[in-house]
Formats: sequence, C-alpha cells, structure tokens
Amino acid sequence: THFGFETVAEAIKEQKVRGVFSSVASSYDTMNDLMSLGIHRLWKDHFVRNLNPGRNPLASTSTPTSTPGSASEPQGWNILDIAGGTGDIAFRMLDHASTINNDAHTRVTVADINPDMLTEGRKRALSTPYARSPRLKFIEANAETLDMIPSSSIDLYTVAFGIRNFTHKDTALREAFRVLKPGGVFACLEFSKLQNPVLDAVYKRWSFGAIPLIGQVVAGDRDSYQYLVESIERFPSQTEFRDMIKEAGFLVPGQGWEDLTGGIAAIHKGVKP
Ligand code: SAM
Repeated sequence: THFGFETVAEAIKEQKVRGVFSSVASSYDTMNDLMSLGIHRLWKDHFVRNLNPGRNPLASTSTPTSTPGSASEPQGWNILDIAGGTGDIAFRMLDHASTINNDAHTRVTVADINPDMLTEGRKRALSTPYARSPRLKFIEANAETLDMIPSSSIDLYTVAFGIRNFTHKDTALREAFRVLKPGGVFACLEFSKLQNPVLDAVYKRWSFGAIPLIGQVVAGDRDSYQYLVESIERFPSQTEFRDMIKEAGFLVPGQGWEDLTGGIAAIHKGVKP
C-alpha cells in the first residue's frame, strides 16, 4: 500500500511461516500424520506413481503425451521439487525413476525456504542411495523468486503441501511457468476442500479442535499447529486454484484436479504449452 503496510504484513507472514517450519522440522512426520489422519503417505505414493517420473530407455518410442520435456532428450528428467522440505517427494520420485523406469539419470533439486527443513532432508537422504549422488540436490530458495533456475529448464515441477504457505501464490505459479520447458508439467499436491458437507463438518471439528491440542501435547507447540490448520482453511477451493493455474498460462487437462479421500487433499496439474 501507500504506507508500505502490505509489505510489512507480508514480511511478517513469511517470518511466521519460517518459524512454524523451523519448530516443526523435527516432529515433521507427526505433524503430517495428524493433519492427514495418517493418509499423507498414501497420497504421496499416489502422486508420484501418477506422475511416473523418469524416462524409460526401453520404452523411448512410446512416449505418453503426458511425458514432460522433449522426447528426443536421451537423459532423464530434470525435476524441481519446491517446498520439498524433508525430501519426502524427492526420494519417492528418484526411487520410482530408478526402479519402475530403469532410469538412473533423472535428477531432483529440492528447494525450500527453510534451512531447518533442508537440514532434516539432508539427514534423511543419508539413509537413501542418493545421499552423495549428483541426482539429488538441496537448495535454499523462495518459490516466488527462483533466479538460480534458468527459464525453460525443468521437465517436472512438483509442490506438495507447500503452496498454501506461499505469500504470493500467483507469483510462485508464474515462476513455475517460467522455469518449466514447453511440455513440462506443474503438479501440486495440497490439502483441499471436502466435497461432502457432513464429512467436512466432522473433519473441521477434528482439525480445529484436536490438531492444535495434539500439537501442544506431542510437539509442545500449539501455535504452529493452529497456523497449519488455519492455512488449510484459507487455501482456495479446487476450482479457484485450477483457475489460478490457468491464469499463470498453463493448459489444464480435464477438470484440472483429482480429489483424494473425498477432497481432504487434491492433485492439480498444468502443462506449459
Ligand atoms: N513437500 C514436503 C512434504 O510434502 O513432505 C514438505 C511440505 S511442508 C508441510 C511445507 C514446506 O514449505 C516447508 O518445508 C516450508 O519451509 C516450505 N515453504 C514455505 N514457504 C515457502 C516458500 N515461499 N518457498 C519455498 N518453500 C516454502
């Protein structure tokens, strides 16, 4: 605004988000289990299986239309996992590329704004085959300003349970569009809106009532968990978010999203034309 209040409020929000994730970094799995009733692992498995990362060298002639990037490239995919935190999605994508697509070249850059989450991710990488591999990289970056990532260089951009924390979601979507190659895919897994009003009432009761309380008991941190519940509530509906993706320039296949567990979470996709 004229007096810069908006900028101050945004800076405070960004600081708050940093603080929340610094304090939940070590109790991260507990947090996810609480917020998703334990189902986040299945959603993440489904998200990755559905994206089918990697370029199968034996099936190069039958490239599906949904395969990002240029089919003529011999090497694997260049994937950017934004708000990748502890590496949950990145490890799954590398495992999938290696074991399902026999692709030992696909690489993932995990970008996150929070150094504590990245530290947790690097620590976890030590128990995977990718710890010292050039296929996995961690960088500290804000999704809204990815200056270190060249334009049109990424085959697949993923963001799981991250975008609702961004201050300017539209700016982050435009950055996603910029860094993707033509044909590249934007894929987002995020908490969403339950379609059934009865289930929605039950879930709201659970999330607003129990989660901050359990956060306090389990992690000694009520405020962070309260913030996370509220950030889910504030996030746009499936159709609104689909329209934001279109607004950033993406082509949206079909209705544009897939509901998971009745809409507790949803996967949105967009393709850069
Ligand atoms: N993607 C991981 C997963 O699904 O397990 C981590 C999700 S965690 C709930 C959300 C992450 O978003 C945190 O690690 C946080 O630091 C990160 N984050 C929040 N705002 C960000 C921003 N503007 N740019 C990049 N990362 C951000």
